[in-house]
Amino acid sequence: MQYPEPIAKLIESFMKLPGIGQKTAARLAFFCLDMQEDEVLHFANALISTKRDLHYCSNCGNITESDPCIICSDEGRDQSTVLVVESPRDIMSLEKIREYHGLYHVLHGVLSPMEGTGPEDLNIPGLIKRLQSDAINEVIIATNATAEGESTAMYLSRLIKPAGIKVSRLAYGLAVGSDIEYADEMTLFRAIDGRREL
Ligand SMILES: [Zn+2]
Repeated sequence: MQYPEPIAKLIESFMKLPGIGQKTAARLAFFCLDMQEDEVLHFANALISTKRDLHYCSNCGNITESDPCIICSDEGRDQSTVLVVESPRDIMSLEKIREYHGLYHVLHGVLSPMEGTGPEDLNIPGLIKRLQSDAINEVIIATNATAEGESTAMYLSRLIKPAGIKVSRLAYGLAVGSDIEYADEMTLFRAIDGRREL
């Protein structure tokens, strides 16, 4: 038996999300069917608003409603340090611990020869441009402690150091293979505090 068209479409949509297979998608779709209409509207509006009202900051690549983002436009932050992360979610995690007061730059991924991701696919030209025009004297590379994260850090270090800018890497406390996003607060605190120069 085939699902009625509306629910078939909903199942298809859920299956586009990461880690959701057909079975889970069907379970979620039928759950939605049982939800109150205002809850469904709230859910649908949240989806649309996330896409419509959020953009990437033209300076750092963070997600933002205004451009530049609140971090880039905060003159109280240390304008001489940039912390480079893979994803805007990493900024959320790092901001929570209130240990870092400089600026950020989001790469939107890591270099991955396996997946065909090269420097031009990432927000690296934007970083170079900032380093040339702004008064930045330290770049802290906070890519994840994975093989790709490490090789991206090395690539950036080789690119940036000749310009006479200090390059450091989060190290202490972060386990190999771990993601910044899921690290606990103490680990992140130590990682920033104990960064090593590259
Ligand atoms: Zn920004």
